[in-house]
Amino acid sequence: MITNQWLEKRRHGLETIKANQFADYLKNSGANTHCLSCGSAELVPAQTTRFPELTGDPETLTPDELAAELEEHGDFVSYRFLRCYYVDAGDGLIGAFDCQFQVACKNCGFVSRHLASKVLGWLEKDKDIGLK
Ligand SMILES: [Zn+2]
Repeated sequence: MITNQWLEKRRHGLETIKANQFADYLKNSGANTHCLSCGSAELVPAQTTRFPELTGDPETLTPDELAAELEEHGDFVSYRFLRCYYVDAGDGLIGAFDCQFQVACKNCGFVSRHLASKVLGWLEKDKDIGLK
């Protein structure tokens, strides 16, 4: 398990960003919405299913545990978040450059990455100034 102060302050925020928020961020930042390799517009972000209230990884739950979580928390679909990839630079520390979101091209498979901390920073600033 990766731990450090920088990450622990932001982990919840980084791991609960939804695809539509990421799309808003990309639009706002002027990012290219086409594949940089083949030019296709069919880009998909890597996502995962997570229950915000849980500290563990829901993908490791038994079917019975999962059923209990669904009973308690409701709609499964509403808990889809972007998958945050942690890059291990070998020093055991995770910082702003080490948390990334991946976008894959459905046509050619080219993968591009965005710093998750930039997306989170934009969303938090956005909240502060009362937009949305
Ligand atoms: Zn492509």
